[in-house]
Amino acid sequence: MKTISVLGSTGSIGTQTLELCRLHPDRFRVTALTARSSREKLFEQVREFRPLLAGFAEPVPYSEIPEDLRFCKWVMGREALHAAAAEIEADMVLVSIVGIAGLQSVLDALDAGRQVLLANKEALVTGGHLVMDRAKAAGKPILPVDSEHSAIFQCLRAANGNEPTGILLTASGGPFRTWTKEQMMTASRQDALKHPNWNMGAKITVDSASMFNKALEIMEARWLFDMPPERIHVVVHPQSIIHSAVEFADGAVLAQLGVPDMRVPIMYAMAYPERLTTGSRPLDLFALGSLTFEKGDPVRFPALRLAGECLNAGGAACTVLNGANEEAVAAFLRDEIPFGRIAELVENALEKLPDLKADTIDDIFEADRLARLQVRHAMA
Ligand code: NAD
Ligand code: MG
Repeated sequence: MKTISVLGSTGSIGTQTLELCRLHPDRFRVTALTARSSREKLFEQVREFRPLLAGFAEPVPYSEIPEDLRFCKWVMGREALHAAAAEIEADMVLVSIVGIAGLQSVLDALDAGRQVLLANKEALVTGGHLVMDRAKAAGKPILPVDSEHSAIFQCLRAANGNEPTGILLTASGGPFRTWTKEQMMTASRQDALKHPNWNMGAKITVDSASMFNKALEIMEARWLFDMPPERIHVVVHPQSIIHSAVEFADGAVLAQLGVPDMRVPIMYAMAYPERLTTGSRPLDLFALGSLTFEKGDPVRFPALRLAGECLNAGGAACTVLNGANEEAVAAFLRDEIPFGRIAELVENALEKLPDLKADTIDDIFEADRLARLQVRHAMA
């Protein structure tokens, strides 16, 4: 029996994780559940999973916690994430909150000796060097939940001394894969939220449409697998069946395949190094007929070019890209800017904020703050 604390339990990854806990009640016990603000959903989860601790990042008065749910400890605000990451008993901490807020939680969990299951990409994008140093010191690998990184992680386990020489990072291409730059410029919120293969939270769905999601994943892969950006190749693969692949020195290429279903990588991280059933349906290659591959277009999707540029620039460039993108996506989701403005605002922030450092977590938060400020300034 493993105990698990879930940060962001009401989201897309969080709810699928709880579904897997429900499927294997003899293997996993939930000790903490936290969300930002979705009250009814978290209340329902607490009622079902009976954790030791629960909390909202946006404080809710204790008087508004239903009486039948007061059996557990309720913690509010920033303290909620800290308590769930580091204080409550848990073998594993799943960090599935959105945004740079994930960085502090990952560091807290590692410092407390927890096994980190990482869905949140922003922690590695902004503080990859800090996270990997801490994980190394703790002697616990970060277990990736992002489907591509889980695929790569699984392929690397078969290396047996065979040197990995490159990563083929697959991308669905998102809803705008075949759209022209002009069409994309004025695409609506509804258009961007229609992902062809995956059902995910709003922020990551917009990032999939702009391919900033792939830019963040290149950065994630750089840190998780210590692979230089020029050896991470984006392969647009619209069917999302190959979840990524690793090239090895002997010429072998190993890939992990399956229907697009986040329960598979989530369960892989939860049960690691074992494998358990997930309820995912089997892959039917005959029904698919063919798998296709295309080059990503860095002209229509500037994010693909910016990822390598930011990694090579070093310092806080990746943090600036991430912060500016978060701010721009939030504005897009409020219908304040057209879709095409997102990449422009990110590029503008990168131009205006070169050479920021990212030596400490305070440097990183400051770079994030400046990037958001720059986006708001450019929008005004
Ligand atoms: P989501 O928006 O569906 O859910 C986010 C969860 O975190 C919710 O429970 C929300 O209440 C909570 N939350 C959000 N911001 C918070 C904050 N600042 N403080 C505390 N709690 C907060 O998001 P999601 O799609 O589940 O994605 C979660 C993370 O996993 C993201 O970083 C995303 O990039 C990554 N990811 C998601 C998928 C996917 O299929 N959904 C795949 C790969 C990676
Ligand atoms: Mg992914």
